[in-house]
Amino acid sequence: MTYFVTGGAGFIGSHVVDRLIKRNGVTVYDNLSTGKEEFISQHYGNQFFRLVKADLLDVTTLAKEIRGHDSVWHMAANPDIRKGTESTIVDLEQNTIATYNVLECARRADVKTFVFSSTSTIYGRAKVLPTPEDYGPCLPISLYGASKLACEGLVSAYAELYGMKAWIYRFANIVGHRATHGILYDLVEKLNENRAMLEVLGDGKQQKSYLLVEECVDGMIYGFRHAKDRVNYFNLGCGDQITVKRIVEILLHEAKLKHTKVVYTGGESGWKGDVPRFLLSPKKMAKLGWKAKHSSEQAIRQAARIVVRERLKRHEETWTPVEEQ
Ligand code: NAD
Repeated sequence: MTYFVTGGAGFIGSHVVDRLIKRNGVTVYDNLSTGKEEFISQHYGNQFFRLVKADLLDVTTLAKEIRGHDSVWHMAANPDIRKGTESTIVDLEQNTIATYNVLECARRADVKTFVFSSTSTIYGRAKVLPTPEDYGPCLPISLYGASKLACEGLVSAYAELYGMKAWIYRFANIVGHRATHGILYDLVEKLNENRAMLEVLGDGKQQKSYLLVEECVDGMIYGFRHAKDRVNYFNLGCGDQITVKRIVEILLHEAKLKHTKVVYTGGESGWKGDVPRFLLSPKKMAKLGWKAKHSSEQAIRQAARIVVRERLKRHEETWTPVEEQ
């Protein structure tokens, strides 16, 4: 098999590459906007690996490079909901148009299978929790969610019209090694600026579901091997939730920061477009034979350890605990 992984230098995409490359040819197509070469440099020199540094909006290069592959794993996107709120064109271009480009080039290159990374945010403020895959109507509350829902429609239509087999995975919040965004990353960046006081967006009561990146990729590959429909669509999550307040407690515990004062900005949502409570039903994947091994709390604890080890700057000598100021 030969795989074409868009966004393969990104957080989740690089883990996909690590798994797929065993005895398979993998081409990573990435503009390195948020992806990093250091996430894939372990494969440099491997005869099965190739990196194309290019943009999905450059259709000429995309059409040329996608040729000769059996399977496309489309992981590239603007993954930042807040960025898409500041500039309303970002999600349309980077998600919907980019996905159309990948599908169209894949069709012309006669690619047989297409895997798409979608998101829980397509459900919006779902009235049913845990939310099953056939919940509707899907009414996203962010331009990011709206663009991903449009992408799902394109993937489904291309599969039906042109005979590709497709997989759509709606991820919970993914955490772990190489993360470059998300709550743990943001909080550690803030602690690096000021560890006496930690500002947390929202009231701390938001309840979300988390999955370790290795488990996310494991679930994708399991579904790829076992699901038989023309268009296969699955939630990928662990089946429980954790509050933001608990995440903050775990992070500070793992960082051994006992004196940091936590200040919540208040409000039900952390930011515009944020879905404060979500829980994906994991039943459809379970029926297929796959389940996450870690709860949200276990995933957050493992990821907190990683982010503290990899990103938290240690400069205790210059830090005065808040009580002593
Ligand atoms: P990421 O930013 O680490 O990865 C995205 C990759 O795509 C990066 O390497 C980036 O350089 C590349 N890219 C972006 N725009 C591109 C373009 N126009 N041309 C070529 N390359 C481009 O993000 P991630 O968290 O790894 O997300 C991967 C996928 O999973 C995305 O589709 C995202 O929407 C989806 N997703 C992520 C989460 C999560 O919690 N991280 C949750 C739900 C869905």
